[in-house]
Amino acid sequence: MENLYEFDEEYRDTIATVDEKGKRIWVYPKKPKGKFHNRRIFVSLVLLTLLFGLPFVKVDGDPFLLIDVFERKFFIFGIHLWPQDFHILALSMISLVIFIVLFTVVFGRVWCGWACPQTIFMEMIFRKIEYWIEGNTAKQRKLDAAPWNFDKIIKKGSKHIIYILISFLISHTLLSYIIGIDKLKEVVSQPPTENLIGFLALMVFTGFFYFVFSVLREQVCIAICPYGRLQGVFLGNNSIAVIYDWLRGEPKGRLKKGKVQENKGDCIDCKLCVHVCPTGIDIRNGTQLECVNCTACIDACDDVMDKIKKPRGLIKYASYVGIKEGNTKIFTSRVIAYSAVLTLLVSVVAFMLFTRTDIEATILKVPGQLYQEKPNDRISNLYNIQFINKTTNDVEMELKIKDYKDATIKRVGEEQLVINAGSRLDGIFFIEMARKNINSMKTVLQVQLITDGEVVDEINTNFIGPVTRRSK
Ligand code: SF4
Ligand code: SF4
Repeated sequence: MENLYEFDEEYRDTIATVDEKGKRIWVYPKKPKGKFHNRRIFVSLVLLTLLFGLPFVKVDGDPFLLIDVFERKFFIFGIHLWPQDFHILALSMISLVIFIVLFTVVFGRVWCGWACPQTIFMEMIFRKIEYWIEGNTAKQRKLDAAPWNFDKIIKKGSKHIIYILISFLISHTLLSYIIGIDKLKEVVSQPPTENLIGFLALMVFTGFFYFVFSVLREQVCIAICPYGRLQGVFLGNNSIAVIYDWLRGEPKGRLKKGKVQENKGDCIDCKLCVHVCPTGIDIRNGTQLECVNCTACIDACDDVMDKIKKPRGLIKYASYVGIKEGNTKIFTSRVIAYSAVLTLLVSVVAFMLFTRTDIEATILKVPGQLYQEKPNDRISNLYNIQFINKTTNDVEMELKIKDYKDATIKRVGEEQLVINAGSRLDGIFFIEMARKNINSMKTVLQVQLITDGEVVDEINTNFIGPVTRRSK
């Protein structure tokens, strides 16, 4: 990306949250308020309800969403995907990655500001608790600098106890997506010694979340999150981001007798946009990797513009091209190319999901065997069969040969064919046919899989036999 404002870019050599000695500078952002912040509160409430509510949602008794990597059980939108459906999962993941790239190319870091769990928990829950208990920026600074006294112990103690309790709740929710809500209830209702691994997992997750939200905070977005690191690759001059309108704002001026000076831009250098920033940056320097698009600076600046009677939007959602040329292009050639690939992948995944069968079978002739001659002028072939039952119920299966009424199937071993829920069954069987019905060395047969009187699949296989010489 070219130098946005043709300015000195020295600010990119340092991080606002680290001093020259490499020591962390703690950020005390001013409490945000305004139109965008209210909208973000609404979106956060919807997303938090979904996050905490979805583990309880079931579709026909199955979880709506479950990623059980330990037992290799995956439910997505209530659809049970088995390890055998790995190709669908892999393609879905690739589609998701392309969607994220495409979305970022067009809309920048909208995800970070509006939907990322880290931002939502940090800014909408943990930070708000901090404002509620410790007060706004100045009071927080004062409390941190004060010696330990009764007031500080009560305030800090209660804040951290609430943080731990919320981290405890988040860790339970996360685990419910991994082991399922029913198993989680078991873990929670039993003494820790009965389910030591589950208990330890909950404690580790709780400690992890507490550390992230009470200590790491904005450093997750600035230095750890891989998505944040990739912004330099995704963002282009047409990407939409929270951006300062430098054409309108520069050169910065100061209010003189409550009025903007003539020959100066609309920015009065009040630095309120910097004071509200949770990552401690100055957006007026240009688009920066640290900006999580939280919109706090837009609200702060709009408030200033209202007060000095200038139009809102000195800081706004726009692209570099949008500001420079007054024309924000969405459908660039890069976006069209990504969209085409994404549409193709989504169509393939949808086709696979809709044509996917609950019972899968593979039939192969036993290697090294041609055919056997049987009494009554019949010929038999030996086959291996493998069934996979992807449902959560046991299934009783019947096999039939289509179109050849005299053809019979004899299973080696038990006559009754029952495939247990979510499992694989291997077997061997014979197909027998009357010699007179065999017209070529290789006859293609269709084996029907029937359950509850309904044909659930048809599989083609070859039947090898001697060619019957017909008299003329
Ligand atoms: S809040 Fe607006 S006016 Fe104040 S410094 Fe930031 S950009 Fe300039
Ligand atoms: S620059 Fe503005 S949008 Fe970006 S993180 Fe700071 S306050 Fe949020």
